[in-house]
Amino acid sequence: MATIDKVLAAIDADLDASLARLFELVRIPSVSTDPAHDADCRRAAQWVVDQLAGLGFEASARDTGGQPMVVAHGGAARGPGVPHVLFYGHYDVQPADPLDLWETPPFEPRLVETATGRQIVGRGASDDKGQFMTFVEACRAWISATGNLPIAVTVLIEGEEESGSRSLGPFLEAHKDELRADLALVCDTGMWNRETPAITTMLRGLLLEEVIVTAASRDLHSGMFGGPARNPIRVLARIIADLHDETGRIQVPDFYDGVSELDEDVRRQWQELGFDAGGFLADVGLSIPAGEAGRSVLEQIWSRPTCDVNGIIGGYTGEGTKTVIPSRASAKISFRLVGDQDPLRIRESFRGFVRDRIPADCSVEFIGHGASPALTVDMSRPEFARCAEALAAEFGRPAVMMGCGGSIPIVGDFKRTLGMESVLIGFGLDDDRVHSPNEKYELSSYHHGTRAWARVIGALAGSV
Ligand SMILES: [Zn+2]
Repeated sequence: MATIDKVLAAIDADLDASLARLFELVRIPSVSTDPAHDADCRRAAQWVVDQLAGLGFEASARDTGGQPMVVAHGGAARGPGVPHVLFYGHYDVQPADPLDLWETPPFEPRLVETATGRQIVGRGASDDKGQFMTFVEACRAWISATGNLPIAVTVLIEGEEESGSRSLGPFLEAHKDELRADLALVCDTGMWNRETPAITTMLRGLLLEEVIVTAASRDLHSGMFGGPARNPIRVLARIIADLHDETGRIQVPDFYDGVSELDEDVRRQWQELGFDAGGFLADVGLSIPAGEAGRSVLEQIWSRPTCDVNGIIGGYTGEGTKTVIPSRASAKISFRLVGDQDPLRIRESFRGFVRDRIPADCSVEFIGHGASPALTVDMSRPEFARCAEALAAEFGRPAVMMGCGGSIPIVGDFKRTLGMESVLIGFGLDDDRVHSPNEKYELSSYHHGTRAWARVIGALAGSV
């Protein structure tokens, strides 16, 4: 029996126990953004440490200014041509709200039968606990079937991915020598569809801004001041309305600097994927693409920049009514960036755009949150081909090279701080309801994902 077949057989035989381990992890409500869950985040970090230590990794949870960082080292250097990999994932999850839309409690994972197969349902089942556990379980299978990993593996599992990864940059900087490897493997991405694996090669960047408009020095009675008093909600609403024109084009000056047109070959490849734009929108109860006119939905999510208002806060929002003209109104705004768009220049341009629209008797403040540029992954390295072949072997069809509408800032950090390229392989599906109620991960994603990682590890070792 070939080595890889023994490893794959170990995965198949251990599937129930492997699922039980994932369920244990999903039961820990490691919501990183909420201080009430700090102890849960520490518990999740320790759980991951215990798993990896149990596999013979030298594993520990390191304190940071925020949630702890799990670092583990396993396997051994195998000499030239066999890369040492750094695997990255995150154990923290998004808040489960709104709770009343969950069919069962978010932190009580369960296996659900559906027409298309079984699903693991729970917060973090896909993002990112299920995803990163596929790699951990692949390591387990290699170790149980052969006694060791065929490559050197460093595992980095952070706990602040869903809340801005504040500690990550400084941590990478402070542990450069410990964390540097030949190649990073990042698992926070998806498949093209249930049957077709993918490697993500384009990632949009992200810029986050908060705008606070202040008008009067205090909240006012609309009977006494309504009319002459400026309402900051109206000021803000006008600014927000100005951000796009009727064709969906963003009006912030110089916003499109660094955005290039899609390569014709890539455009053709994407067209051939037969993407069902109608179905994509229908899944979320919509039917009319609202992005830039004249752009396909795939282009709109993979290769075009966006501006979105994520929240507006102002005035009285409690029960009943209150005749108030508020003193302040604020909005949280995010931009998805592509190509060579410079997030810091766009931040300045956006702030200028807002300031130009603030009346003289009002003031505006800005709070800058994250800012990360878009990334295009270098596909020319031989490891990419080995990963792609491993995926094709598991799924019986070639991997699609695709874009990703989301942001995975870690890929940029790995490149800048550690000088490492990343290969982005994940087994999530678009309908996983990531960040939404009733999040799920397909059992087939979990099982084939684990098997695919086992093959990738073997392929990188050159042993398959
Ligand atoms: Zn997430």
